[in-house]
Amino acid sequence: MTIEEIFHNAIQTGPSWRVIQIDQQSEAIVIHIGLIEPRQAKCPECGAASAVEMSSPYRIRYFPFFQYKSFIEAPHAWVHCPRHGKQRIEHPWERVIDQSMRNSQGI
Ligand SMILES: [Zn+2]
Repeated sequence: MTIEEIFHNAIQTGPSWRVIQIDQQSEAIVIHIGLIEPRQAKCPECGAASAVEMSSPYRIRYFPFFQYKSFIEAPHAWVHCPRHGKQRIEHPWERVIDQSMRNSQGI
């Protein structure tokens, strides 16, 4: 198992995303994530395969990794579904971060 596969499992990136590279930058770990098939993805509403549009990668803070800060760097992605129009493909790790924030705030 590679270090990318270990992080893929730990972050639970799901079937559409994969960890493509991990960098250590002085006091931080940067986890680069990309779409497995960057040209096509399923519409989140109906599951139809649709063309993908992606933003430039952006960086968000993730949970600490031992003594290091960690960040996930990934693009936003949208599908253009003929029935539902432009739909954003959710990043699975955002749900984990949101749930952790709610738990820490007792929500
Ligand atoms: Zn659709």
